[in-house]
Amino acid sequence: MPGKVWFVGAGPGDPELLTVKGQRLLARAGAILFAGSLVDQAATAYAPAGCEIRDSKDMTLEEMSAWLAEQCARHDTVVRLQTGDPGLYGALIEVTRPLTAAGIEWAVVPGVSSAFASAAAAGESLTLPEVTQTVILTRVAGRTPMPPGEELEALAAHRSTLCIFLSITLLHKVQDALRAAGWAEDAPIVVVQKASWPGQEKIIRGTLADIKQRCQAEKVGSQAMIIASPTLGAADWPELARSKLYDPSFSHRFRKASAPPAPSEDTP
Ligand code: SAH
Repeated sequence: MPGKVWFVGAGPGDPELLTVKGQRLLARAGAILFAGSLVDQAATAYAPAGCEIRDSKDMTLEEMSAWLAEQCARHDTVVRLQTGDPGLYGALIEVTRPLTAAGIEWAVVPGVSSAFASAAAAGESLTLPEVTQTVILTRVAGRTPMPPGEELEALAAHRSTLCIFLSITLLHKVQDALRAAGWAEDAPIVVVQKASWPGQEKIIRGTLADIKQRCQAEKVGSQAMIIASPTLGAADWPELARSKLYDPSFSHRFRKASAPPAPSEDTP
């Protein structure tokens, strides 16, 4: 029986943000293929002695599939360790299709995406009652074009939270798109570089008008998440609409209301 390939989300960088399941798989892996430029090498510290560990940075997708398949002939557990969650910008399907074709079993273990680690680092909530209840995970076009209808300007028109991956070198394009969608010059934007990386995380707070200059001044030009959202800074707002779930006037399955309902009641 050939081994099985596990696509494990390594999380955003801090090895402690790897899931317990991911750690357990690494600890019994015969071979690990990791994404060199983004996954903190420390994650491979969980590997057992004698485990074959390979950086994928100089490999094509075909070479990765071939290497993983080859390792399955020798080991029960083979891990492809990738940054954040494997289902986001991770070339998952391109690599799994040849494995399926070769009759090799595979499965995915989710990871903490850098979108969530960045919001956590900045102490921000991506959703807020009556402000926005929607999060869009996207990027701007680089060498990978955006499918029609997914231009940032169109997505920004929703005025919801935007977590923008792979775009820090194209910050001017982000600014143009938000302006074209009518965002104000003082709309808050936060950029987080190397979220959760021990000792290396940087948080840059600015506005649509000045975020690019602020990032340049702090030399933030790679491995960064751009969050544009009407929720940013809410910790310091004088007033906040309450989340219905915790509102004293709102009953639900686990708690009876202790105050009469407000006139226009809603579900959480
Ligand atoms: N699958 C990954 C995303 C890979 S694409 C995930 O779920 O997070 C690579 C992009 O992710 C980078 O260009 C950057 O925008 C973002 N990124 C990855 N790690 C990051 C980190 N620790 N801090 C901030 N952004 C990060």
